[in-house]
Amino acid sequence: MSEETIVNSPAGPSVLTDVFARRLNYLRVSITDRCNLRCVYCTPQFDAIKLDHEEILSYEEILRIIRIAASLGVEKVRITGGEPLVRRGVIDFLKRLVPMEGIRDVSLTTNGVLLRDRIDALWETGIRRINVSLDTLRPDRFRSITGMDAFERVWAGIRAANEKGFHPIKINVVALQGINEDELVDLARLSFRYPFHIRFIEYMPIGECTKVRGAGLLTPDIQKLLIDAVGPLIPVDPAAFDGPAKRFRFEGAMGEIGFISAMSEHFCNRCNRLRLTARGAIRPCLLSDREIELKSLLRGGAADEAIAERLKEAALQKGAEHHLGLSGDCIQGRMFAIGG
Ligand code: SAM
Repeated sequence: MSEETIVNSPAGPSVLTDVFARRLNYLRVSITDRCNLRCVYCTPQFDAIKLDHEEILSYEEILRIIRIAASLGVEKVRITGGEPLVRRGVIDFLKRLVPMEGIRDVSLTTNGVLLRDRIDALWETGIRRINVSLDTLRPDRFRSITGMDAFERVWAGIRAANEKGFHPIKINVVALQGINEDELVDLARLSFRYPFHIRFIEYMPIGECTKVRGAGLLTPDIQKLLIDAVGPLIPVDPAAFDGPAKRFRFEGAMGEIGFISAMSEHFCNRCNRLRLTARGAIRPCLLSDREIELKSLLRGGAADEAIAERLKEAALQKGAEHHLGLSGDCIQGRMFAIGG
């Protein structure tokens, strides 16, 4: 059965939409739950059980799902993890993904530890947009946040990516009271020296809560800190393929400042995403534990149409909005398996 047939399926709309008429054209794919770092806000307090190799989807399976999703209107894919650069074969996988029909934008989120060594290979895949997580500019603090003495490696990776021509390079910062609050201004000031987009992410209580539960800073507080220290934040017009970040820049800066306010200002009404977990389930909302299993269907020899139907069903299970408030709730899913 061709992709044409799936697109024209009489069983439902030809694109992924949910019951609230949001069009879902963005798939975030976690290719592994393994990570070389143990970030305090991501890793559960008790060590997680890692999935066996057979439990996670093969690249072949992931590519098949993305191809079917593309036939249902998915145009944008982000590869994440765990740490995507630790999975063997990731470069060849990306080389197959980037030119896939219907996919107009592929990007990668990494912790940057392996970035410098992989930079030429990554460029050759055709990827041009990367996000790198970096919560501090102090090597000793980097170690205490991530468990690895790797600040210089990450920073060298970010600079190598910049020299190579990756753009935009987004720096993801999880803003935490008593952990990196005193560096948020320095991190924001990087946007004067580099064309980076520095994005402050509110801590989300995911993964049975972490050691830093309760330490999350909210966007209005972060904005106040930055405005008091640096100056006004000038809004930047949204562009096609923008994510949930609200974008700003400082006068005279090369780069931008973004805020991802999943807790203080829900952006559910403009959410256009589905997530594919490393274990092979679709997660309609990052902040809800509901998942729709795909792996057994794939491994049971299902046809593309059946997988397309399952994707549509998953889309219909996307709730109107998440209900994770500031009440101290946590959800059980683990960020490193879902991909953030
Ligand atoms: N290993 C890659 C990395 O570090 O960027 C990709 C996976 S990581 C789970 C993706 C993003 O999720 C990172 O930017 C990380 O900072 C963010 N993240 C992890 N746990 C979080 C939490 N509890 N709240 C908010 N963001 C979180």
